[in-house]
Amino acid sequence: MADVLIAGGGPSGAAAAISGRLEGASVRVVERAKGPRHKVCGEFISPGAQEVLQELDVWNEFRSMRPCRIWRCALHLGKTTNRWTLPDCGWGLSRLQLDRILLEKAASLGAEVCRGTVFDGRQDSRTRIVLAGGRRPEGAVEDRLFGFKAHFEGPLDDAVELFFDECGYVGVSGVENGVTNVCGIAAESSLKKHGFEFDEFVRRSPVLAERLSPLRRRMPWIAVGPLSFSGSRTSTPPNVYMAGDRLGFIDPFTGSGILNALWTGRLAGLAAARGSSPQEYLRRCQSLMSRPFVISSVLRRLASHSEFHSFARYLPGRLLFRLTRANVAC
Ligand SMILES: Cc1cc2nc3c(=O)[nH]c(=O)nc-3n(C[C@H](O)[C@H](O)[C@H](O)COP(=O)(O)OP(=O)(O)OC[C@H]3O[C@@H](n4cnc5c(N)ncnc54)[C@H](O)[C@@H]3O)c2cc1C
Repeated sequence: MADVLIAGGGPSGAAAAISGRLEGASVRVVERAKGPRHKVCGEFISPGAQEVLQELDVWNEFRSMRPCRIWRCALHLGKTTNRWTLPDCGWGLSRLQLDRILLEKAASLGAEVCRGTVFDGRQDSRTRIVLAGGRRPEGAVEDRLFGFKAHFEGPLDDAVELFFDECGYVGVSGVENGVTNVCGIAAESSLKKHGFEFDEFVRRSPVLAERLSPLRRRMPWIAVGPLSFSGSRTSTPPNVYMAGDRLGFIDPFTGSGILNALWTGRLAGLAAARGSSPQEYLRRCQSLMSRPFVISSVLRRLASHSEFHSFARYLPGRLLFRLTRANVAC
């Protein structure tokens, strides 16, 4: 029987497993997927990830994959564009590689990794559990949201670009090997109008169609959903530490979900290995993440109003970018 059982082998679960092992606990990870796979994700990794990747001792593996270096951000709201440089270099790496590197690191440190195994909630009362299974299932909503993504080849850029309109948004940014990732979120009703044809959907906006014109799709579209955003948890059962999206799912336009997953996974792994109080762990996560969750939900509401789009060029992009990242300094 392991000291720490981790349900989910994504970034948060793998970060928890690595931290648990570095702390000397015996760790078992159960991951329902049989092997590494593409995931629907913008694959933008925030500046600030270097610190946690170094603490997890995977920074060299990460760099060896030659992730795209991202220095600029462009926000297109309707016909208005706001551009700024990032406070530090961000990164683009496919989830296929990121998730693989992290879970392989956990295994190399001695974590028992059980792929193709579903966590069914049963547990020994002495085992500490890290719940890292990703987004919580959503309740019923009127117009459900779906995410979609594909990789493209063609000229590479060092900007992460976000294109918002009344149907949703699409992000375009580089990953490794000169590949560009195109990933979006839209309401089911809008996707339905285009027969769920994502090529047609992403090219309906002239600005986005122009951005995509030199690119050629190199993999089939993949989709996920329904999606719903959830604030960070404030209570937890005994012996249970929730991490990553299971703890709280921030709107992906912030590009900060992976960073949150790595930090909360790391903290959950440490807390579980040491047997610290889950409530104390939650308080630490709250202090890291409450600000980005509040700011992102305000921005999401504003972006859905087209009257707001003409003011977009006056938005303090760099400041908002900083305010939607985890407050690691606190
Ligand atoms: C459309 C979209 C775009 C995004 N773009 C970005 C971006 O550009 N930048 C960014 O930082 N974030 C982005 N995110 C958010 C980011 O993907 C998540 O925050 C991140 O994946 C969270 O990691 P996690 O480990 O908590 O969850 P996940 O990555 O979802 O991993 C959970 C793992 O648990 C496994 N699992 C689930 N249930 C069980 C079970 N019962 N038993 C065993 N295993 C189980 C799953 O197979 C999965 O591998 C985006 C999200 C979406 C939906």
